[in-house]
Amino acid sequence: MNPFAQLDRKFVWHPFTQMRDWLKHEPIVISSGKGAVLRDVQGREYLDANSSIWTNLHGHNHPRINLAINRQLKKIAHSSALGFANEPASLLAEKLIGAASLNSAGRASLRAGLSGTPPHLTKVFFSDDGSTAMEVALKLAYEFTRRTRSAGGSPARSGRQPRFLSLDGAYHGDTIGAVSLGHIDLFHKAYGGMLFPTDKVMSPYCYRCPFNRAQPERDDARQYRKCNWECVGKVEQKFSARKKKGNPFAAFIFEPLMQGAAGMIPQPGGWLKQVTGIARSHGALLIADEVMTGFGRANSKFKIQNSKSPLFACQDESVQPDFLCLAKGLTGGYLPMAATLTTQNVFDAFLGKYEEFKTFFHGHSFTGNQLGAAASLASLDILQTEQSVLQRAQLQKHLHKELQTLWSLPNVGDVRQVGLVAGIELVKNWRTREPFALRERAGLRVCEAMARRGVLTRPIGNVIALLPPYCTTRKQVSKMASALHDSVQEVFG
Ligand code: PMP
Repeated sequence: MNPFAQLDRKFVWHPFTQMRDWLKHEPIVISSGKGAVLRDVQGREYLDANSSIWTNLHGHNHPRINLAINRQLKKIAHSSALGFANEPASLLAEKLIGAASLNSAGRASLRAGLSGTPPHLTKVFFSDDGSTAMEVALKLAYEFTRRTRSAGGSPARSGRQPRFLSLDGAYHGDTIGAVSLGHIDLFHKAYGGMLFPTDKVMSPYCYRCPFNRAQPERDDARQYRKCNWECVGKVEQKFSARKKKGNPFAAFIFEPLMQGAAGMIPQPGGWLKQVTGIARSHGALLIADEVMTGFGRANSKFKIQNSKSPLFACQDESVQPDFLCLAKGLTGGYLPMAATLTTQNVFDAFLGKYEEFKTFFHGHSFTGNQLGAAASLASLDILQTEQSVLQRAQLQKHLHKELQTLWSLPNVGDVRQVGLVAGIELVKNWRTREPFALRERAGLRVCEAMARRGVLTRPIGNVIALLPPYCTTRKQVSKMASALHDSVQEVFG
């Protein structure tokens, strides 16, 4: 066995992994990467079909990001944001605010910020990971609500804590606040005693929606669904019910266009606009978790002429959140860095005399890290080149075309794609939509078979996720789809 594999087995505890299973096999030890290809210590090559857990954007070992990090490294790797500013983090904050202010047509939304118009994001709070970006939004929304409700609007009655509404099946991270916002039963069982209560509302899971009266077809369930938008009605009901209790929801938390770890659940066009409109009409703040969807991952409205294509999924439906949470792809997938963007209104609620202690008491040692910020700046520059916009538009088309080959498999129930995120749901029988029990490890077995074919990804239960790096070639996309196709055949016969 490779010596690093031995060390790993002896000392390392892997995330979200049943270590008993892990210890049965020699792990793949990654030693290098170039573009969409990962190479292991044995010299074997694999396609990185989930962009290293949805982080990588432009491919590994990208010369421009490498150069940016190297340049920064010659100056300084890190100094603290507690007490000091730094060059790349300041520049990055400005760029992020600029990118978040574009509307779906790729223009700066000039009206934003005027009274009566949606909020304008003006401030950036840096942290380290998706979970921490969410934790920041949660704490800010909580404290903002407590302060503003008791000062003006509806009174914060004693003992009434701000309540949060999020989507069924949601995953927003693994810190305690982020787990509380999520609704994955498996995780809630483990940590239930440590969590605070939040409410959930049905997500628009067309393929398994109890209100969808359509029989299964060989097509994305959003295309053939027959319903009356009951899922939107459910959101309205939740907001009305809580208002009647005298403690309206403080915030509505959602992943725009596609819920990731919930099982790659795409939203039918228009759902986001409708439900965020409902939330706003009930005075709730909007917290958009774009940890997975951000940086062009889930956009399908490309604006090529001026290279100002929208980078955030919210922009595809012209939704302006009060909090925009970013991580994973922020640095191009190079380094752990996250950002929570928010409004002037929220920022102002934390201003006061020192001794009033209105300060936002939150922060991490590596907040605003220079290396991460330098990588992020380079990544944003690449994203805004015409070549990158074109590349993403073409990759989306190729991916769509290749995925159509999967419909011939009886164990493929739904093939869904939003931008450059695809989820393929495996079922026992496509006609009945009967799911595999989790203990059958259907998704894991298919991914193991794909790895033997040189394609790496990780399942979410019975859903195989494909999120290719943006530099993936047409040939490489074909290989991803054919490896999945052949693996499903191999595993289920
Ligand atoms: N939000 C979403 C939508 C995510 O997909 C994830 C991670 N899969 C997180 C938050 C948490 O991010 P991290 O793992 O970087 O803490």
